[in-house]
Amino acid sequence: MYIRPIYLDCHATTAVDERVLAAMLPYFTEKFGNPASISHVYGWEAEAAVKQTREILAAAINATPEEIVFTSGATEANNLAIKGVAEAYFKKGQHIITIATEHSAVIDPCNYLKSLGFEITILPVQKDGLIDLTELKNAFRAETILVSVMAANNEIGVLQPLAEIGEMCHEHQILFHTDAAQAIGKIPLDVQAMKIDLMSLTAHKVYGPKGIGALYVRRRNPRVQLAPQQHGGGHERGMRSGTLYTPQIVGFGKAVEIALAEQATETQRLTQLRQRLWKQLSQVEGIHLNGHPQQRLAGNLNISVEGVDGAALLLGLQPVMAVSSGSACSSATTAPSHVLTALGHSEKLAYASVRFGIGRFTTEEEIDIVAKHAIATIQSLQNKR
Ligand SMILES: *Cc1c(COP(=O)(O)O)cnc(C)c1O
Repeated sequence: MYIRPIYLDCHATTAVDERVLAAMLPYFTEKFGNPASISHVYGWEAEAAVKQTREILAAAINATPEEIVFTSGATEANNLAIKGVAEAYFKKGQHIITIATEHSAVIDPCNYLKSLGFEITILPVQKDGLIDLTELKNAFRAETILVSVMAANNEIGVLQPLAEIGEMCHEHQILFHTDAAQAIGKIPLDVQAMKIDLMSLTAHKVYGPKGIGALYVRRRNPRVQLAPQQHGGGHERGMRSGTLYTPQIVGFGKAVEIALAEQATETQRLTQLRQRLWKQLSQVEGIHLNGHPQQRLAGNLNISVEGVDGAALLLGLQPVMAVSSGSACSSATTAPSHVLTALGHSEKLAYASVRFGIGRFTTEEEIDIVAKHAIATIQSLQNKR
């Protein structure tokens, strides 16, 4: 019998929650209308569903519904935020600041802008993965138009100090964008208190469907200008044309609603599971925890192991658990994780790393099976040397 490995890759994606799926289904069939159709009930019921998700998302981050722009995911939201701001503000300045541990969906748009003549500062992070606020301040220039710093890292789970960054950016009249793909539904987010101007969201890391996300675009204090990156029917107040994907949008809203309702208890449960896993793994010689020990997502554990070959390690774990080394998003390349090398790891140690993404459907029994097998695998590889 073929037994599927235990799924511990929740930073790559998550299963759609049954409650989310149930909410989505009617919008594929009887409620299939186009939310932009204003002359009949089919359009109205689709529009009402879209409006409801807009309200849920806005409430989740303390924004207003008009400030939510639906996209195909966080990759598109990041592209729209970064390239959209660059194009709208290039006369004011052409300097953008980001950090070394960002997702490629932030780094690559920045590199693209660099090829067009923009200046990009990529700040290093400290050994624990956190930004150095003094370095950020020193990087500010008169021409700086945008700072992009992620809320929660997709590899090491580190949570950046958004409120401090937002305060500094607003003091200098620089726009602040944050990629919150891993953060929405998992940690409190407040665009007012944290002075965030643009925020990228996605549904599929929080038990919603793939292919739907959103960009929060601040409308007041200041009103953010954004050059659309996709032109057409003028949907989403001209910022992102294209017929809205109603079933996915309904699922997005339901997913965030559930995550918020369960956030406090789930954070506690996931923290306990992570600690249970680490307590067992930390007995192994030469094992390191990557990222700040507390300032991280509850469900994230990322380790590096000395004295083992990274490829052999993953191969040994594979039959029992679905985990990854580095991030799924750049797994097409064989380079070591840019996030782990940014923490100061050698290439070899960066290769020999495992990301455990614990989630809603992970049980204590699974954690114990995973710990036992991981320890046996690591120790047998270390003994082979
Ligand atoms: C998953 C992820 C993305 C990409 O989101 P999609 O919705 O899959 O495009 C961007 N940034 C971070 C931090 C992520 O974890």
